[in-house]
Amino acid sequence: MDDFFSRDITLLTGSDKAQLLKHELNIHTYEDLLRHYPFRYEDRNNLSTIAALTPATPGVQLNGYIKSLQKVDKGKKRLVALFEDHTGQLELIWFHNFSWIIKKIKPNVQYRIWGKPVFSPQGQKQLIHPEICFLFGNQVEKTQLLPIYHSTERLKRNQLDAKGIVCLQRKLLSQLGATVEETLPQYLLTRYKLLSLKEAFKNIHFPGNQTLLKQAQRRLKFEELFYVQLKLLKARQVRVEKQNGKIFNNVSLLNLFYHNYLPFHLTNGQKETIKAIYRDLSSGKQMNRLLQGDVGSGKTIVAFLSMLVVIASKAQVAIMAPTEVLAKQHFERFHLFAGQLNLNIALLTGSTKKKEREHILYRLKVGILHIIVGTHALLSDDVSFNELGFFVIDEQHRFGVAQRAGLLTKNPVYAPHMLIMTATPIPRTLAMTFYGDLDISTIYELPSGRQSIQTQHYYENARLKVFHFISGQLLLGRQIYIVYPLIEASAALDYNDLMAGYTSVCRAFPDIPIGIMHGKMDSASKDIEMKRFEKNETRILVTTTVIEVGVNVPNATVMVIESAERFGLSQLHQLRGRVGRGNAQSYCILMTDYRLSKVGKERIETMVKTNNGFEIAELDLRLRGPGDLMGLQQSGVLNLKIADLSKDGAILEAACRLAKDIIQQDPEFQHPDNLPIYKEYTRLLAVAGGWNRIG
Ligand code: ADP
Ligand code: MG
Repeated sequence: MDDFFSRDITLLTGSDKAQLLKHELNIHTYEDLLRHYPFRYEDRNNLSTIAALTPATPGVQLNGYIKSLQKVDKGKKRLVALFEDHTGQLELIWFHNFSWIIKKIKPNVQYRIWGKPVFSPQGQKQLIHPEICFLFGNQVEKTQLLPIYHSTERLKRNQLDAKGIVCLQRKLLSQLGATVEETLPQYLLTRYKLLSLKEAFKNIHFPGNQTLLKQAQRRLKFEELFYVQLKLLKARQVRVEKQNGKIFNNVSLLNLFYHNYLPFHLTNGQKETIKAIYRDLSSGKQMNRLLQGDVGSGKTIVAFLSMLVVIASKAQVAIMAPTEVLAKQHFERFHLFAGQLNLNIALLTGSTKKKEREHILYRLKVGILHIIVGTHALLSDDVSFNELGFFVIDEQHRFGVAQRAGLLTKNPVYAPHMLIMTATPIPRTLAMTFYGDLDISTIYELPSGRQSIQTQHYYENARLKVFHFISGQLLLGRQIYIVYPLIEASAALDYNDLMAGYTSVCRAFPDIPIGIMHGKMDSASKDIEMKRFEKNETRILVTTTVIEVGVNVPNATVMVIESAERFGLSQLHQLRGRVGRGNAQSYCILMTDYRLSKVGKERIETMVKTNNGFEIAELDLRLRGPGDLMGLQQSGVLNLKIADLSKDGAILEAACRLAKDIIQQDPEFQHPDNLPIYKEYTRLLAVAGGWNRIG
């Protein structure tokens, strides 16, 4: 690519403005400015009438005549013009710079004006500082879609408001000339019917019409997503080539367990996943696989069965969970299975006693232990294996990339195979983007015979009814969770709510043992509370979201969520997943305030309507956007300038398929036709900070 793109913005704007643009909008080069796309457009093709204006009307365009002009000196100095069309009158008002307007404006000549209507306290319709243009007879000036750019207060004070940026863009585009080098090969432009880059730049900033705007957007989104995918897939390819995996293909233990001890029939999703994992383990390439499956879809047994393939070849396996509670649960389940196969297993957490810990580390080191279950404690430096062949990370969203890498180094000879599991379903578009370097398996169905959880929504006035319902469930011997929001920003108030809630529950159920658990308690006390609830010593647990991950108390059948409107959708779904773990019908009760925002209402309605985590994740993506959803606002991956992962799924799929094809057919982009890809890919990698520059 020639250096037009990389020219310093100073050349265009002079140094003062350049400083501001760099500082405020992270615009350093010509390309940065070209790719500072409008965030919306004002359609100047639509004419409105004065009679039709309401306080809710956004910017409007009107045709009409100026009937009078008057300078007002009383109060704030201003110029007021009376403007009239065939439906009524309104006032145009200027507070400064009006001498040239007085000179220019003539009565009874037709004008086209543009502005955002406001209503005075007396109900008078007004336009403050409207834009005016003169109409020659009936000939209307060529109308257009006006680009609106993000700006900042500081920029606005320095003539770089939206309009100022429009001027810069015009100037820059006029210099574009023939210098825009295509970033996509001609054959792809033809195949996908895409505008050239130059046409796309022109039309994204100054669209000829709606159709051209759509085409420009599509072209730029496609290009953006294509290169993101290309980068991810390339990274995967490099990794796969580099990391030869150890071949594990001994299915003897797996078959033994499968035919003799497996306590249930696997679902199709489980079977498919195990097959995919087996293919990876026996492929000679190192496995990096993400397993997504809703709460209760049975991921654990998939992990266990896969482990058996590795253990049968005398290598060791590890499973790491984000909390001690969860690690213990895995351990108990695996311990039972391991016993049936005469395998040695141990649990290692932060609270493992010193002596026992030493014993475990020794047995791990010399290879006596086949399976180790644990928390972060597994990552500690003194934990070493005889031969770690395979590890599983459960509830991956609780861990960072560093933890993955930490376990990878536990085998100095070869990279162990890796399986990452998550019960937080991620919409496809996000999975493709965030985990583009992983292979993905998804279990969509739950084991048969599960009763689906019934979800209901109540307002405060139904509290008695809810308590009555809880009594009924208590009489049946069941247990109840009551969850309160506890959000950092309002922690003190929330804490009061929690305590008040606890008091009122105690009053309502005086004969029932009730526990309370929250983040302010130390982990030993939390542990004690959790155990009491697990053992059914407490029947109701009043708590905050500390119980969110993995807790399994099958006898709990009711999840009451207080102030449910304050939780995010995924979180509500995770909380709901704490019930419905036994054979009895379970319930989720969402209590909310009477006043619900539109989004709040939509969230609650969704929860009532569906139990499907993937559906919920898709909606969550639409409501919150990808940044919030992944908790990664600042992530380089999300630094998309034009594509929107919540809306552009179809373009992403196409771009991803294309990237895959190209990497397969021409991995080094050596074919002459792919020269533009080679150049752009190399350029993007080289651009300082490039993709990962934080916006
Ligand atoms: P998650 O995917 O949420 O980790 P688990 O692996 O904890 O789910 O499984 C939830 C429960 O379902 C466990 O008690 C497990 O034994 C049981 N389970 C798993 N697979 C099946 C199956 N195919 N049929 C019946 N029960 C199953
Ligand atoms: Mg699980």
